[in-house]
Amino acid sequence: MRFRQVHLDFHTSEAIEGIGSRFSKQQFQEMLQLGHVDSITVFAKCHHGWAYHPSTANEMHPHLSFDLLGAQIEAAHEIGVKTPVYLSAGLDEKLTRRHPEWLIRDPQEKLNWAPDFMTPGYHQFCMNTPYLDILANQVREVVSNYDVDGIFLDIVGVRECYCQSCVAEIRRRGEDSRDLDAMKLLWEETFLRYAQTMDEAVHRIKPGLPVFHNSGHVKRGRRDLAKLNTHLELESLPTGGWGYDHFPLSARYAQSLGMEFLGMTGKFHTSWGEFGGYKHPNALKYETALSLANGARISIGDQLHPTGWMDPATYALIGEAYREVEAKEKWCRDVNSVADVALLSAEAAGEPGNTAQHADAGAVRILLEGHYLFDVVDTENDLSSYSVVILPDVITVDEALKTKLTTFIANGGKILATGRSGLAPDGSHFELDFGAKPLGDSAFKPSYFRPDFELSSLRNASFVMYTDGQDIELQPYGMKLGSRENSYFNRDLFTFCSHQHTPSNLQDAGPGMVEGPAGIYAAWNLFEDYALKGSLPVKEILHYALDRLLIRKTVNTNLPAQGVTTLQAQPSENRWVHHLLYASPVRRGLNIEVIEDLPVLSDIEATISVPAPVREVYLAPQGLKLPFRQENGRVHYTLPPWSCHQMVVLQF
Ligand SMILES: [Zn+2]
Repeated sequence: MRFRQVHLDFHTSEAIEGIGSRFSKQQFQEMLQLGHVDSITVFAKCHHGWAYHPSTANEMHPHLSFDLLGAQIEAAHEIGVKTPVYLSAGLDEKLTRRHPEWLIRDPQEKLNWAPDFMTPGYHQFCMNTPYLDILANQVREVVSNYDVDGIFLDIVGVRECYCQSCVAEIRRRGEDSRDLDAMKLLWEETFLRYAQTMDEAVHRIKPGLPVFHNSGHVKRGRRDLAKLNTHLELESLPTGGWGYDHFPLSARYAQSLGMEFLGMTGKFHTSWGEFGGYKHPNALKYETALSLANGARISIGDQLHPTGWMDPATYALIGEAYREVEAKEKWCRDVNSVADVALLSAEAAGEPGNTAQHADAGAVRILLEGHYLFDVVDTENDLSSYSVVILPDVITVDEALKTKLTTFIANGGKILATGRSGLAPDGSHFELDFGAKPLGDSAFKPSYFRPDFELSSLRNASFVMYTDGQDIELQPYGMKLGSRENSYFNRDLFTFCSHQHTPSNLQDAGPGMVEGPAGIYAAWNLFEDYALKGSLPVKEILHYALDRLLIRKTVNTNLPAQGVTTLQAQPSENRWVHHLLYASPVRRGLNIEVIEDLPVLSDIEATISVPAPVREVYLAPQGLKLPFRQENGRVHYTLPPWSCHQMVVLQF
């Protein structure tokens, strides 16, 4: 799989003339070279439904007069650039007005995407309709007629649908469309049948060709869905609604699946379809480096102008980032992450709803800002290589998980659990031994935590905990790490105090954080709290707990909180590659985070625990030898001043 890809969107209205009129093989090639691009995903079919090649299975765009797809493939291949081919699967707007009965409907008959046919926008098809065969023929035609390097099918996934095809099918089965469980099964089967149909359409003609079905998010815990793809493309445009937190969470999970994957960002200031929008080159440098640091290849989203003229400003921008990627690639191939901590994803554990999403996002922030080496895992991962497993906020423990975690603990592993995590599903007792007994949901919200330890940045106090809490009681052998304090009363009509919540009554109301044989338990949804409020005490409380449990932290560094560090092993080269990154997204405009400044960092030090003696330490890609000290299985070094991204290679 190539490192430096472009995803060249080309959703082009039939109301525009002169499609491809300025396409030039030479200009297309020049732009790919300017951008240091080695793979470009080009369009066979767009969301408007049009083909960009002569077609019997589809209709060519009415204002295209030549084989644009064929010309792009020829131009790219001539200079050694690969061409996976894109087909819009879920959206085909030209067909929606001809066959509105094939569109996804909700229980109130409402459409998906655009709300009606009076609003500009696309409408999504149900794959449990004759549309599936039409799409399969379009895919077959492209795979048969062109030298494609892969197939990318967009806007697909397990979809809720109450269209009349779905209702008729559920009734044929003797079931009822009001039975949600029966419908869920049907929706899963519809997606599986779609994926198998596409797989057959592609692989009967070209066995082994890469295929990816894009849902916009690879759902953690659904390995069955991930494995329908030959590789993963993690769509995650930081300024396009995903935010800068989504990619690390998604990537740390994808790498643990052992599939090849890429991180997909965009050149846009905001998101897809933003003609005339550009981010700062520094943002793209950081985003592409973040992919490399997480073991990923990269794809950058662009949209081609209807005339087929490639935008020089875009390819100069992409080139600034990809020139650096090109120099770094050889230290980033065939890597496995080295990690101390496994974050069991709340999404992967099947917890629905926002609390689970916040728990995962908050936990990733805590881990990134504390510079812990971590993977995001589901319940199927082997845990034996980790020292600590985090159960964030909402993960109650069933029999299967109990067996897995009990084995992990028996082998010396430790658990950090918060909120309802670690409890039996009915909340009656802890399934893991934290030296405490649960007494039920706390009546106070917010409440307070007074640690029995000092935080690293603040003197001790009663720190406000905003999220749901649990009342617990210490077992004789358990160790209390801090106390709960309740407020005088919850804020209510006749009992309120000051502008916000009521202060602590300063009475010890039992333990708030405990340690037992299984590890540490904190009695609030602290990860959700951090995702929503980002408060310093919550972070430092969790870092204290993690440091207590992690006897040997593989990487210690004085990188600032916003810095990111990962460690990737490259077994074929017998080396470890230590990645350090730094950029600070700031808010510009409403809800748009941008990266512009890449400050120089000085005197950044690292200490790495190594499994074998290190022969040499050097900076990559510069190749400069770095002085280092080695003692007691640890290697220490200080980096010369750097910005954005620096790799340090530990050669065994
Ligand atoms: Zn349907």
